[in-house]
Amino acid sequence: MDFKPMFPSLNVLWTRWSAYHIKPHQWGGEYLIPAEGATDLTYNCAEQPGPLVADALELGRQLHMGAPDKNRLCSAFAARYGLLGLNAEKGEGSTEDPNVPPCYRPLNSWEYGEDVSFFQSSFVMLYQHFLTVQGELVPTPNPKVMDLSGLLSYRLTSGPNPQLVWEVRSLESVIRFAYASMISAELVPLKVCKNCGKVYYNTHAKSEFCGTKCRNYYNVKVFRERTKNNDNPLAT
Ligand SMILES: [Zn+2]
Repeated sequence: MDFKPMFPSLNVLWTRWSAYHIKPHQWGGEYLIPAEGATDLTYNCAEQPGPLVADALELGRQLHMGAPDKNRLCSAFAARYGLLGLNAEKGEGSTEDPNVPPCYRPLNSWEYGEDVSFFQSSFVMLYQHFLTVQGELVPTPNPKVMDLSGLLSYRLTSGPNPQLVWEVRSLESVIRFAYASMISAELVPLKVCKNCGKVYYNTHAKSEFCGTKCRNYYNVKVFRERTKNNDNPLAT
């Protein structure tokens, strides 16, 4: 299925807070929530899907590799894009009652937070899916384990010229659908840097590096290797 006609001009208003932190909850679990004194900003989170998906995959890669500063990485992603809206597609009602875990408070409010382990696993699953596409992770014995799935609401408008509209309600859905359209494209714009291994977004088919710094570093490295193996005719 081609996703572009499905999501011609996706506009998903989302809130990000200027800073997040991780707080243990009295009923167990740790929650990623907006920090004290943080300010909110509402933006269209579907506007720049390329950098969004690349950043999500890169966070997934860091978490997958067992980065020591997981909490800081998650807080930084949230400050850039907001929380994922993990229950938003289910349409579960929120409550004004403060005596519930932060994930049941009004979505994107200052009181709203997400269980950090669920938050992290969403990115790890995305990255692991990417690895299966790259052929670096073989989804055996049950291939479906690595599939990505979720819920999405739709609406078919009434009257003349009916249109099928997908009602995307969460940042997680935006990431998943943008990723789906990119990863199933003929020329996949998601690349792995030949030098540092970072996932980045670039629509040029021949792009190999996440930036000029990595390209220069890599070229110097190759040049040194060649000089070192100067006597070896196979190395040139
Ligand atoms: Zn790089």
